[in-house]
Amino acid sequence: TIHRPTSDRLYQEALQHIVGGVNSPSRSYKAVGGGAPVFMKRAEGAYFWDVDDNRYIDYLAAYGPIITGHAHPHITEAIIESVRNGTLYGTPTELEIKLARMLKEAIPSMDKVRFVNSGTESVMTTIRVARAYTKRNKIIKFAGCYHGHSDLVLVAAGSGPSTLGIPDSAGIPTSIAHEVITVPFNDLDALKEALERWGDDTAAVMVEPIVGNFGMVMPHEGYLEGLCKLTRDAGALVIYDEVISAFRFHYGSSQTYHAFPDHKEIEPDLTALGKIIGGGLPIGAYGGRREIMEQVAPLGPAYQAGTMAGNPASISAGIACLEVLQEPGIYDRMDRLAAKLADGMREAAAANGIPLTVNQIRGSFSAHFCDHPVTNYDEAQDTDGERFGAFFRAMLDQGINLAPSKYEAWFLTTAHTDADIDATIEAAKKAMAKL
Ligand code: PMP
Repeated sequence: TIHRPTSDRLYQEALQHIVGGVNSPSRSYKAVGGGAPVFMKRAEGAYFWDVDDNRYIDYLAAYGPIITGHAHPHITEAIIESVRNGTLYGTPTELEIKLARMLKEAIPSMDKVRFVNSGTESVMTTIRVARAYTKRNKIIKFAGCYHGHSDLVLVAAGSGPSTLGIPDSAGIPTSIAHEVITVPFNDLDALKEALERWGDDTAAVMVEPIVGNFGMVMPHEGYLEGLCKLTRDAGALVIYDEVISAFRFHYGSSQTYHAFPDHKEIEPDLTALGKIIGGGLPIGAYGGRREIMEQVAPLGPAYQAGTMAGNPASISAGIACLEVLQEPGIYDRMDRLAAKLADGMREAAAANGIPLTVNQIRGSFSAHFCDHPVTNYDEAQDTDGERFGAFFRAMLDQGINLAPSKYEAWFLTTAHTDADIDATIEAAKKAMAKL
């Protein structure tokens, strides 16, 4: 077992100065029984080291961005070279054009792009743009999908698909929540019902086309086609939040993923991006059809700005990251390793009579302690969080770092090796035996 006295001490100190001791609530161990989170000090490839010099194999990947592994030399060099020339100009640069072109080539539904600083900002702005374009106010979203922490998307379901939302956080006015309708994912009838009731007022339907926030969840066959058709028939826009999913499964987005036979039928009007496209530095981007994007200032009446937006370091890291991801075979390798680990998890659970549902999508998967499929948020909620907490700790104590939440995915990176996977399966066997 690993000891972490310095993390314990730093956590006590952090609590004095930083609210909750963490700068994002998902980093706290509240959902896995509490206590001090591990304080990391260095990372390289698939590993990081904590302040007590314990080594961990990392499957958190910083909640997604670190798909090429930590401190990838090509990305690190790009950042260093960039900051040597200054960190921020407040003027356009040629680099921004390069990354915009790369995104457009990979995601053809984006005629025009704008860079921002986070996924939250990109999603928030797509909503403003959709409202400006449609001159309508309401948004339909899906239970359990996370779209950042702006007011409109931190709203939970009312008591059925045809009811208005309720705030998911203090500090959000009910009047704002009433602009949002939340329906279950993978249920076209529920969406249809909501659109019948609110369609004329609906600016956009916002969805994670492949879900990454209540486990990894594929849309049912035909679901996205149906969602796009119902939404367009109501005169509303389709917004894909691809902050997690873009460049995750292949070099492109969910919109162009091979599991969807007809890409044109599932193309959104607007797409929100973040995470991987910044190579580990802060970034967001949104884009879409030309006439919709032309609503944005300085061309149109929808205002959006940013002092740090398109900063050279983030853009350089993003370009370098996408360059690494263009290397042939890279996604197939992550897929193969994830499949091996997913199988190992299933076997370790079965050997101990523990029900486990593993959803693998290419180089990522989720593992829910339950005996039913996980295709929507209700099913993901109805899983054993206490058991997950015990599993999480047993893995951590063997040097395997997972996200401290039963909903989060495991992310493979280009740096993980067969030896890492074998070691993780061994650890999972021991952890399951203890549950
Ligand atoms: N959308 C999705 C699908 C996300 O997973 C996240 C973050 N986990 C966000 C938006 C928000 O991104 P950020 O944390 O960069 O604001």
